[in-house]
Amino acid sequence: MARSAGWMPPNCGRQFANTNQWHSCHVESVDDKFARKPAHLRKTLDYLMTRLGEIGPVRMDAGGV
Ligand SMILES: [Zn+2]
Repeated sequence: MARSAGWMPPNCGRQFANTNQWHSCHVESVDDKFARKPAHLRKTLDYLMTRLGEIGPVRMDAGGV
């Protein structure tokens, strides 16, 4: 059985497994996102991303929520 290539909405060009999956088309950098948050949140995220990176490749988008 062939794997689906996924869905890429024309608005933002992000890629999703499911067609018409809900998401925000607003894309900003992780740094921008965390510039408005308490510093300890960024530290926690950095730690998590480091640990996840040890397991396998990680890709992260900071979508608008
Ligand atoms: Zn989009």
